Amino acid sequence: MEQRDDLDEIRRAVRALCEEFPGEYWRAKDRERAYPGEFVDALTRAGFLAALIPEEFGGSGLMLDAAAVIMEEIQAAGCNGASAHAQMYIMNTLLRYGSAEQKARYLPGIASGELRLQAFGVSEPTSGTDTLSLKTRAVRDGDHYVVNGQKIWTSRAEHSDLLLLLARTTPREEVEKRTEGLSIFLVDMREAIGNGLTIKPIRTLMNHSTTEVFFDDLRIPASALVGEEGKGFRYILSGMNAERILIAAECVGDAKWFIEKATGYASDRQVFGRPIGQNQGIQFPIARCYARMRAAELMVHHAAQVYDAGGNPGAEANMAKLLASEASWEAADMCVQTFGGFGFAEEYDVERKFREARLYTVAPISTNLILSYLAEHVLGLPRSY
Ligand SMILES: Cc1cc2nc3c(=O)[nH]c(=O)nc-3n(C[C@H](O)[C@H](O)[C@H](O)COP(=O)(O)OP(=O)(O)OC[C@H]3O[C@@H](n4cnc5c(N)ncnc54)[C@H](O)[C@@H]3O)c2cc1C
Repeated sequence: MEQRDDLDEIRRAVRALCEEFPGEYWRAKDRERAYPGEFVDALTRAGFLAALIPEEFGGSGLMLDAAAVIMEEIQAAGCNGASAHAQMYIMNTLLRYGSAEQKARYLPGIASGELRLQAFGVSEPTSGTDTLSLKTRAVRDGDHYVVNGQKIWTSRAEHSDLLLLLARTTPREEVEKRTEGLSIFLVDMREAIGNGLTIKPIRTLMNHSTTEVFFDDLRIPASALVGEEGKGFRYILSGMNAERILIAAECVGDAKWFIEKATGYASDRQVFGRPIGQNQGIQFPIARCYARMRAAELMVHHAAQVYDAGGNPGAEANMAKLLASEASWEAADMCVQTFGGFGFAEEYDVERKFREARLYTVAPISTNLILSYLAEHVLGLPRSY
């Protein structure tokens, strides 16, 4: 993000907090695939995870551009915001479409840290990126909905009290438009686990606390429905724009971390009697990564501004995510190359960040699907799928 005076204080405060969680902390968590609960608690205590919650509910009432700065700084400091970022982006769906009663019931607890809102259940094993084909059903039964189905890649489900769930409430054959008939629910997992909801962890390339979630006749109160029944896809798309902007900001932070690490190492490391950074073969990739990171940063900032003005910046959020995820991955690769053999040694954190940065050209939406979106919705080319 661009340096702006009103956001400088936030940047400094996030940096100061992150200094308490150095590389050794993240390496140990990574080795054990353990959730960085102390880090998430510290972010919560400092109020960063309540940045978007209105002041009347105990938060700081900031806009998405401030949330993006928080996430960017976490990554730029070498920490891993994936442990907590969902609270920021799920929040937008609740704030934009939740009822007054839902906001009053949940927001103060989330702001104080008593309640954790960290899980987002959209992806399913059989439908993949084709979200409109998802199979999880929620069927109304009196004052309840009965949920059956399965989600995959529901990250942080074991470390969250609430789950924002996308499920089909009207069968696909019975709706006029394929985008209708899906609904979103705020599921209180504290009551659900063991009563129709089961969580199974998935071990991944990096430390991400992701899971499979199974619903077996789970009964949830009808009051868990967010907004109007059948309109969930529209709500989730708006939330996904916020998610893409925030993830893009994280990628910018990662790119900054890799560029700073590579620059420092290239200046210090002496081979053939001079710093490796004196060779253009080392300098140019770093300089190119810097230019790409800055371009992505401007798009992230622009997308956040459009979002904060009340818009649904599908094109801008997608472009920000595309550019930033590619910038961070290119910077990750460049950093390993600059470090040579030491890029593979655990103690430098480069290999850990390299593994962590790999995710974002795949999730929360893959590069191909962003390109398809731009081709179809921005350039007017025929739909390819
Ligand atoms: C670590 C991790 C954490 C995640 N966390 C969450 C979470 O918290 N909540 C959640 O809901 N989801 C989560 N996800 C899921 C993530 O959003 C999906 O993995 C991602 O959207 C891609 O979907 P998929 O894996 O089903 O791939 P698929 O849809 O099976 O696609 C596989 C490949 O084919 C390409 N492809 C598919 N269709 C087309 C097409 N028409 N044209 C061109 N290319 C195509 C894709 O681009 C991709 O490269 C997470 C995933 C991971 C790996």
